Amino acid sequence: MFDTLTERLAGTLDRIRGKGRLTEESVRETLREVRVALLEADVALPVVRQFIQDIEGKAVGQEVLGSLTPGQALIKLVHDELVELMGAANEALDLKAQPPVVVLLAGLQGAGKTTTTAKLGRYLREREGKRVMVVSCDVYRPAAIDQLRTVAGQAGVDFHPSDATQRPVDIARDALAAARKNLVDVLLVDTAGRLHIDEEMMEEVRAIHGQVQPHETLFVVDSMTGQDAANTAQAFDQALSLTGVILTKTDGDSRGGAALSVRQVTGKPIKFLGAGEKIDALQPFHPERVASRILGMGDVLSLVEEVQQKVDRGKAEKLARKMRKGNRFDLEDFRSQLEQMQNMGGLGSLAEKLPGMSQLAPQMKAQMDDRSTAHMIAIINAMTPQERRFPDIIRGSRKKRIAQGSGLQIQTVNRLLKQHAQMQKMMKKLGGGGASKMMKKLSK
Ligand code: GDP
Repeated sequence: MFDTLTERLAGTLDRIRGKGRLTEESVRETLREVRVALLEADVALPVVRQFIQDIEGKAVGQEVLGSLTPGQALIKLVHDELVELMGAANEALDLKAQPPVVVLLAGLQGAGKTTTTAKLGRYLREREGKRVMVVSCDVYRPAAIDQLRTVAGQAGVDFHPSDATQRPVDIARDALAAARKNLVDVLLVDTAGRLHIDEEMMEEVRAIHGQVQPHETLFVVDSMTGQDAANTAQAFDQALSLTGVILTKTDGDSRGGAALSVRQVTGKPIKFLGAGEKIDALQPFHPERVASRILGMGDVLSLVEEVQQKVDRGKAEKLARKMRKGNRFDLEDFRSQLEQMQNMGGLGSLAEKLPGMSQLAPQMKAQMDDRSTAHMIAIINAMTPQERRFPDIIRGSRKKRIAQGSGLQIQTVNRLLKQHAQMQKMMKKLGGGGASKMMKKLSK
């Protein structure tokens, strides 16, 4: 996420980081580069202007130039302004009203509404312990209703059936009645989208809005549309009075223009980020963490949260016990770790949250793709249990067999064995104490 922007900004700011002295001219030069980076990231022009203006006033003042570490002070200033731009703090959904609390999702076709409806349902069920019902008012797109039924199943939330012969407003009214009857906490209403904003669509969403009187009206928008995302959000806001925005497809967005423009252009907070096609790829939006990520400072907090939710605690504890007893870290353990990593969205997604990792050479990033994790697992699967326990016995003919069995090259097998040997050494060095403490901490 936001790779291009991060690369540019981190590069620019790195040059001044360690500087003991900055002149007014060098500050202005840095800000000019920041400005270009933001414009290239497709941040809306008025937003960029305001941003640079705000920083400039402070940056040539005592706060930065008078500081003992002016480079650091300027970076902090840029960071804090980025946070401010995106809304300072995370704004959660307001679910305090008398249940069923109604959440309406609107947006253009293909933005990710249906997927996001299910993701949000799962999120509210798992994280907030809510009983959730979803309903689709999309009677135009073929199979839209079926699509929601399928993803609702994956999300483990109630699905209120509707059909394409009904009027959208009637569907919404019926669903609300059903939600009341079934003592549902939150009703998520998915609506139809069009390719462009048109009056007819707005009229219909407005009618549904009037019918169910939602507590939250969320605009779902594809982050890859950059500053246009902010403009369409504004148009919807005028029709519906939004309470928030969900940015989707941030996993494919290297520029970040939408994330940086939406709040300023619409005055509405981004509440969630969609970051993948999987049902669990939805995160609350934390401006502070996203700003750190944009500046290549990592997002350790989100990482820790993710690890806490997704790591299989039983497995982590088992491994910790094993290490504590001084047992070897064998290939079974390695495989189990690789699988857990896959669970967490792969190395790439983990690395992007670690400080400094965003500036890794592209070749190294390429090596960390999810495919290579899958390859490593395939290789370990092709081994016999004995080979997994005692990797030292894997020599010539065994290697050949394993390569063939996994459909990969012998070099790849060699690489895996080397990586494992390095990890084994590291585990040993950390000793029972270090490693197991770390694992325990992570699995808490
Ligand atoms: P709708 O027309 O607004 O209901 O859009 P859909 O929910 O049908 O989504 C359109 C496409 O975008 C589908 O292929 C989704 O899998 C995909 N999609 C939705 N959200 C995300 C996301 O956060 N990341 C990625 N990579 N794909 C997404």
